[in-house]
Amino acid sequence: MNRPSSASIDACKRMLAAALGPSKLIDDPDLFSPYGQDWSFSTPSMPDLVVRAEGVADVQAVFRAATAHGVPVTPRGLGTGKSGGSVPVQGGIVLSMERMTRMKDVSKTDMIAVAEPGIITETFMRNVEAEGLFYPPDPNSLKICSLGGNVACNAGGPRALKYGVTKNYVLAVEVVIPTGEVLRFGKGTLKHVTGYDLTALMVGSEGTLGVITEITTRLIPNPAAVTTALVSFPDLGRAGSAITAIFAAGVIPRTLEFLDDYALGALREKTPGRFPENAGALLILETDGTSVERSMEDLERAALVCTEHGAIDVLVAQDAAQREKMWEPRRMLSVTLSETAPRKISEDIVVPRSRIPAMLDGAKRIGEKHKLGLATYGHAGDGNLHVNILFDEDAQERADQAVHEIMSLTVSLGGTISGEHGVGLTKREFLSLEHSEPLIALQKNVKKVFDPAGILNPGKIFPSRGVRE
Ligand SMILES: Cc1cc2nc3c(=O)[nH]c(=O)nc-3n(C[C@H](O)[C@H](O)[C@H](O)COP(=O)(O)OP(=O)(O)OC[C@H]3O[C@@H](n4cnc5c(N)ncnc54)[C@H](O)[C@@H]3O)c2cc1C
Repeated sequence: MNRPSSASIDACKRMLAAALGPSKLIDDPDLFSPYGQDWSFSTPSMPDLVVRAEGVADVQAVFRAATAHGVPVTPRGLGTGKSGGSVPVQGGIVLSMERMTRMKDVSKTDMIAVAEPGIITETFMRNVEAEGLFYPPDPNSLKICSLGGNVACNAGGPRALKYGVTKNYVLAVEVVIPTGEVLRFGKGTLKHVTGYDLTALMVGSEGTLGVITEITTRLIPNPAAVTTALVSFPDLGRAGSAITAIFAAGVIPRTLEFLDDYALGALREKTPGRFPENAGALLILETDGTSVERSMEDLERAALVCTEHGAIDVLVAQDAAQREKMWEPRRMLSVTLSETAPRKISEDIVVPRSRIPAMLDGAKRIGEKHKLGLATYGHAGDGNLHVNILFDEDAQERADQAVHEIMSLTVSLGGTISGEHGVGLTKREFLSLEHSEPLIALQKNVKKVFDPAGILNPGKIFPSRGVRE
C-alpha cells in the first residue's frame, strides 16, 4: 500500500500547524506507537501525524489539509478495536477523538442523551444512570472504549440478547464527511422516516464514510433489579442444550454468556478457587425486572432448566459487589487468554442459535486438525461466539488456514463473519465469502459518494483484489 510522499506530509503538517496550533498535533515519531495499532494484533503501522481534535472545526481543518495534499485520514476512538479499523495502514493522519468527551445532555422527559464521540462508554452509561435511565449496549471493553468507536463498529455486548446492540439506540449523529461538510443524520425523536436512513448507514461504517462528532441515543428506564448467577456444567454439550431450553421455557435473560473448558482453564490459573474444578463449561446467567421478586423469579426458572439439563452448580450473587466479581473475569477474558500463548487470533462469528452445537463441534475439530489451542466463549444467547486460536510463533500458517476454515464453516451454517468487531483490516479478505461481488461493488460506490478522493480510512472493509466497481 502506498504511503504519501514526505513532501505531501510536510505540506499537510504546515497547513495544520497554522490552522490548529501545536497543542493538538503530535508529530514526534517516538510518540506515534499507541496510534499505530489496536487490539487486533494486526501488524502495527505508524501514522505520519496525529491530530487530537477538540471540536468539529478541527475535524474540518484535517479534511481540508488532507484533501489538499492527498494524505489519508484514519479516525480513532480509544483504539480497543479488534479488527484493525483504526490502524493507519497507509500512514498519513490519525484523527483521534480522545479529547472530544463532553456529555452534552441527558433528558429525562425525552429519554435521550447527547454526547461527543470520545466519551468513555462507561462514563456515558453512569451519567445516564444518574438520571434513573438506562443505555443498554455494554461491550466488555466499556471501561476503555469510546462511544464513538461503539457507534462506528455497531458494538454489542452481553446485554444485546435482551436489549439489542448500539444501532438499536442511536437516533441521530453529527458527521463531518471528507469533503468537509458537517451533516446531521436522524433526529432526537423515536420516529423519523424522512429520506434515507443515513444514521443507520453510519452505524457500523467503521470510520470509512465520515467522522462522527456528536451522538444522540435513546434511553429506556433503568430496570430496578438485576440478578446474576454462575452456572457450571460438566461439559459444553449440556450447557448448549440448557441454553435452548431456557428460551423454550419462556425466559429471556438479560445476558447468557458461555465459556468453554479452555477458557475456564485460563481463568482458573489466573483466579484459583473461583470456579468449580469439575466444570467443563460455564454460563453467566443474568435476569432483570421491575422488582427483585420478578427478576429472581426469572432467574429461578432458568436455573431450574439448567439443573434439569445437567448443571452441577448454581451460584447466585447476593449483592452488586458479588455481581461485579462474577463479571470481572469474563470482561477481561480476552486479555487472560492472550497470556496463555505467544499468539492469539480472536474471531467473533455469529450463527443461528440452532447451529451453535454444529459450530462449536466444527471449530473444535478444526483446532484439533491443525494442532492449535482453541478457546470459545461469548454471547451464547444470540449465537455470537468468540472463537480464539492460541498458538506459537511457528504455527502462523496453520492458524491462518484454521481461520479460513472457521469463516467458511460459519457462512455455510447461515452465519456471519462478524457480530460486533467489524471487518476492518483483519477480515477484509473474507468479506467475499459472505457478500456477493455486486453487493461489494455497490458498497464501494456508496463510499465513493461520501469520500470521492478516497482519503478516509483506506484499506479497510473491502477485499484488496478482484471486485469491480
Ligand atoms: C477486552 C476487550 C473486550 C471487548 N469486548 C467487546 C464486546 O463485548 N463487544 C464489542 O462490540 N466489542 C468489543 N471489543 C472491541 C472494541 O472495544 C469495540 O469495537 C469498540 O466499539 C471500539 O471502540 P474504540 O473507541 O476503541 O474504537 P477504535 O478502536 O479507536 O476504532 C474502531 C473503529 O471505529 C472508527 N472510529 C472510532 N471513532 C470514530 C468516530 N468518532 N467517527 C468515525 N469513526 C470512528 C475507527 O476508524 C475504527 O474503524 C472489545 C475489545 C477489547 C480490547
